[in-house]
Amino acid sequence: MLREPMTMLCYTDLSGAVRGKGFPTRLLEKRLKSGIGWTPTNLMFTALGTIADSVWSSFGDLTLMPDPETRVEVDFDDGTPAERFFLCDVENTDGTPWDCCPRTLLKDAVKALRDETGLELRATFEHEFVYAGANSRTADNYALDAVRRHGAFGETFLAALAAAGHLADSYLPEFAAGQFEVTVPPAPALAACDGAVVLREMARATAWRLGSSVSFSPRLSPEGLGSGVHIHFSLWDEAGNPVSHDASRAHGVGEKAGNFLAGIVSHMPALLAFTAPSPVSYLRLVPHAWTGIWSNIGVRDREAGIRICPTFGGSEEAMARQFNFEYRAADATANPYLALAVIIRAGLAGLRDGCAMPEPTVEEDPEAMSEEARQARGIVRLPSSVDQAFAALEADETVKSFLPKPLLAAYLANKRAEFEIGRTWTPEEICRRYAEVY
Ligand code: GLU
Ligand code: MG
Repeated sequence: MLREPMTMLCYTDLSGAVRGKGFPTRLLEKRLKSGIGWTPTNLMFTALGTIADSVWSSFGDLTLMPDPETRVEVDFDDGTPAERFFLCDVENTDGTPWDCCPRTLLKDAVKALRDETGLELRATFEHEFVYAGANSRTADNYALDAVRRHGAFGETFLAALAAAGHLADSYLPEFAAGQFEVTVPPAPALAACDGAVVLREMARATAWRLGSSVSFSPRLSPEGLGSGVHIHFSLWDEAGNPVSHDASRAHGVGEKAGNFLAGIVSHMPALLAFTAPSPVSYLRLVPHAWTGIWSNIGVRDREAGIRICPTFGGSEEAMARQFNFEYRAADATANPYLALAVIIRAGLAGLRDGCAMPEPTVEEDPEAMSEEARQARGIVRLPSSVDQAFAALEADETVKSFLPKPLLAAYLANKRAEFEIGRTWTPEEICRRYAEVY
């Protein structure tokens, strides 16, 4: 069959969808310089396929400008067209950044952290997903046979990831039926977000070639367990030394890292409007489902809002380099750039104000504490619905200030339009509809 190779220029929109436009790959050199045209109102596409009211209406033009570093060219060698795409910044036609570009929001947050503190954040997004072709059986959790029965998916997915420049460091069958988890090493914030986007696309690309599908939706059914996207992070100084760890301090948390965590914890209810931004997110964020539903910092606790992760063996230096924190109340309905940008900004606010780290919980369940005890420790129940999360955002002037006004307005309008569509849906219907999208 006749074929002309094609390349897509894409960005990740407010609901985490990867959208863009293509061109014949023979024009790549030109397109790397000129980008491709885009329309402001495209930002108002909702997760559920509608277009929310747009202040831009039918007016205006933008450019999707590819970042050459993000090039993906993955040929599955099975006769199907190769995956060829770049991730882009959204620019005005004069080449200045568009104030509603999610990737630019993250770049600005990274720059603000570096300029004000000399610190760099490294992150990795730990993804869980469900593979429809898993041939799953009861009690598949961590089963060798679950990996065997899911056939070529795992190895092909890892190879596709590697070919896209992202070397996984672990892969495992998770707790839920057909659920798997993949981890990649930490990277600077922008590369980590680009990597998260590419990882999801490679999972979808692999599943599609095997005649199946994957879903990263936080919940596929109201019962059982969900899929999280845990955000691991650590702080580093300009010389490349880890600063998250200090053996002489409580729980090994360095002073600056403690300030950074304090900032995140104090704004966490509002941050959920970016990290767990959909109705289906709150079917996952329920008690005792190994997700974070309290604003606590938990030592090695998989139900903490932020987990202080373990380190494994090695010297003091090796331990300091491994030491990291895990923000658990996040999922794949979030735009990773927005999610990490607001986490960085909240951490930076904590650093700026020298906020003291709240005392971490150690083998304590906030649910089992009295309300007074929680209050004394500064632990609050995180929002338990998407409406509560957005109300917390509306009430948090600091978090609202993390976004340029037009981007905040567009985000609120877009998400509200999405929520209205599903207002009357049962939990089953919410799961079904979001599984189609994510
Ligand atoms: N599936 C859980 C979640 O929804 C996480 C399980 C784990 O700790 O790996 O976040
Ligand atoms: Mg997991």
